[in-house]
Amino acid sequence: MSFEDRSMQCSNCGAAFTFSAKDQEYFQSKSYTNEPKRCPECRQARKSEGNGRSSYGAPRQSLLGHARFSSLEVRVNEGESQESLLRRFQRMVQMSGVLREVKANRHFVPKSEAARIKSKKNAQRRRRQGN
Ligand SMILES: [Zn+2]
Repeated sequence: MSFEDRSMQCSNCGAAFTFSAKDQEYFQSKSYTNEPKRCPECRQARKSEGNGRSSYGAPRQSLLGHARFSSLEVRVNEGESQESLLRRFQRMVQMSGVLREVKANRHFVPKSEAARIKSKKNAQRRRRQGN
């Protein structure tokens, strides 16, 4: 399918702009069904306003966060307040995040963390030796 440059009118400022053949091709390759309603300047202006509508990438991140949360389990103690439960849950999320980071950054372990890991390993070794 071939495309031709099309002259469009910006719905925002009324200026004429060109929906180029190249752009049309790009739109089709991305399966965009809507034609651009605004001139490039207005689009850019809207983007830099950051009104949230064009925040690509953000949904992916929140999905990741969700997956991480759903792998955690918090047991509810009888008579425990929601507040304390939430605190516990947040601590768990934090801990799991820390552990993950330690695993991922083996070459960059903070001194305090390294000491903690070392003492943990020593404890494990002692336990194995039966002392
Ligand atoms: Zn415009």
